[in-house]
This record gives sequence, C-alpha cells and structure tokens, in this order.
Amino acid sequence: MKHIMRCPKCKEYTMKEICGRCEVRTENPKPAKFSVEDPYGKYRREAKEMEGTA
Ligand SMILES: [Zn+2]
Repeated sequence: MKHIMRCPKCKEYTMKEICGRCEVRTENPKPAKFSVEDPYGKYRREAKEMEGTA
C-alpha cells in the first residue's frame, strides 16, 4: 500500500522515501489524520473480536 510522505526540508509531498530535491529522508505527515476518517473503525474491530471470543 502506497502512502504519501513529506520532505521535512522543502515541505514537498512525495511517494518516495528520499526527497529527490534535498536527498533527505521523508517522513509520514500526521498519521493521526487517517484515523479521523474512520473514528468508529476501532470500535467495530473490538466488537468483532468480542463476538469471536464470546
Ligand atoms: Zn525536499
């Protein structure tokens, strides 16, 4: 699965692990953003696990 990365130096978004301009390692910009899109996903998974063990 591809995910967007960001260069900490030039703030450019890229799919690469190394920024082509700065040749520095890119980092994952705020992974928390993705969990906000599905705030109940965690609870759904927990409910499913409880069903399986009950
Ligand atoms: Zn850069």
